[in-house]
Amino acid sequence: MTTPLICNNYINGEWEGAASAATLESRNPANKHEVVATFPRSTATDVDAAVSAARQAYRSWRLVPAPARAEYVFRVGELLSKYKEELAQLISREMGKPLVEARGDVQEGIDCAFYSAGEGRRLFGQTVPSEMPNKFAMTVRMPIGVCALITPWNFPIAIPCWKAMPALVCGNTVILKPAEDTSACATKLIEIFAEAGLPPGVVNLVHGVGEEVGKALVEHPNVDLVSFTGSSETGAEVGATCGRTHKRVCLEMGGKNAQIVMEDADLQLALDGAVWGAFGTAGQRCTATSRLILHRDVKEKFTTMLKERASKIRLGAGSDPNTEVGPIINERQLQRVNKYLDIAREEGATVLIGGEIAREGELQHGYFFEPTILDNVTPQMRVAREEIFGPVVALIEISNFEEAINILNDSNYGLSSSIYTRDINRAFAAMRDIEAGITYINGPTIGAEVHLPFGGVKHTGNGHREAGTTALDIFTEWKTVYVDFSGNLQRAQIDNRE
Ligand code: NAP
Repeated sequence: MTTPLICNNYINGEWEGAASAATLESRNPANKHEVVATFPRSTATDVDAAVSAARQAYRSWRLVPAPARAEYVFRVGELLSKYKEELAQLISREMGKPLVEARGDVQEGIDCAFYSAGEGRRLFGQTVPSEMPNKFAMTVRMPIGVCALITPWNFPIAIPCWKAMPALVCGNTVILKPAEDTSACATKLIEIFAEAGLPPGVVNLVHGVGEEVGKALVEHPNVDLVSFTGSSETGAEVGATCGRTHKRVCLEMGGKNAQIVMEDADLQLALDGAVWGAFGTAGQRCTATSRLILHRDVKEKFTTMLKERASKIRLGAGSDPNTEVGPIINERQLQRVNKYLDIAREEGATVLIGGEIAREGELQHGYFFEPTILDNVTPQMRVAREEIFGPVVALIEISNFEEAINILNDSNYGLSSSIYTRDINRAFAAMRDIEAGITYINGPTIGAEVHLPFGGVKHTGNGHREAGTTALDIFTEWKTVYVDFSGNLQRAQIDNRE
């Protein structure tokens, strides 16, 4: 067992403990006896210090030319590449995902760095003709100020990068409050930002409990923007506080994503997609496939194929190269998944495979749940409507395309979606009619790329999109500038009319 890492807050370019000196610890979800890191249990006092540092640094950072700001972010990308393997090992140990997926998590951060850095030489505005003679009109992007970034544990490197990198290129300063479960990953990431040479106060890290530190950040009068990724319940609370305190807020929340398999689908391809979408990252992705909507003509055959494949999945520690599915993040989440199995049984669903906490051999030391398929699920059941966030997929039978789309859309969430069909007309109708931020045709519900917008509709989001150029819309305000070079007072709507 390795010695626990000692993690600290990073405020104004200094590594320090909480003012209270209290600490918390994160554990390896594949072996709950292993403490991965200790980290500060910060309070509003530490939040205050971080906000003052970020506010002070903002004064000069906003004036650094955007291409120069972007070069720091580019350097972060180079360092992430250098430390990719070390970071991936840490992600596997602290968050639990298999190494191959952990490398993908870091790669997403690298892709985001290089993509965001490119934006430093664009940040395009518009030039627009004026209705008056000898007058020039344009729009420019302005930074917003101090941004609080509140992140979950399931993508401990990628999600903080998605937020911090465009925010910095746009000229904002940031304070990261990572999930308690992945404090060591966040610390390593911020060490890399520090090594890239960002000036003190531009990037800050405050560890602690969401109800304490997260809340203090969201309520702080000197925080201008909150970018939050997490559950819809917490997001609703964050959104309400930001509304009350007049802050810009970007919310990325839960999902109940569905994959449709039509009768003309390539079943083998649909199977590969369903297994990866439902059980990858142990179902702990906001885009995980938690409903499989199956045409009745292929349901039996597809279910047999799925059952056979899913029953062979190897559970284990993320660090073991043979592992296909890792643990659930913590005891609370494990019990939550287990509770949904009780609910499923009570509501009349049939457990085809899995359905239990895995306890054989080494698995007993961690938080493992068997890959689970629920059959005879109706769209009204709670397991078809609520986010479970575990390796559990619900099968729903349909008899035509319209029914498939209606059931997919009958959800409070709207993040990702997928349809497998060889019919081009149906594929285009699905692209038009599915209510979700992301639709895949003949691909699983997971697989976002950093240069395209990411986010969802309904209870999943609040109208923003992360990644792509749309990330710039979160982290900038538009300023409209008029330059009158006529030397006269020119009254719009009046002087140019008879
Ligand atoms: P969570 O419990 O909502 O926590 C998310 C973050 O918010 C954590 O850093 C948490 O801190 C903090 N927090 C908790 N209470 C808070 C409060 N009152 N004020 C401010 N911050 C607070 O979510 P999670 O369990 O970590 O993550 C799983 C959820 O995230 C799922 O619902 C998943 O769908 C969603 N997710 C969405 C996306 C997306 O892009 N749409 C991506 C990934 C995950 P602590 O760790 O200290 O509790």
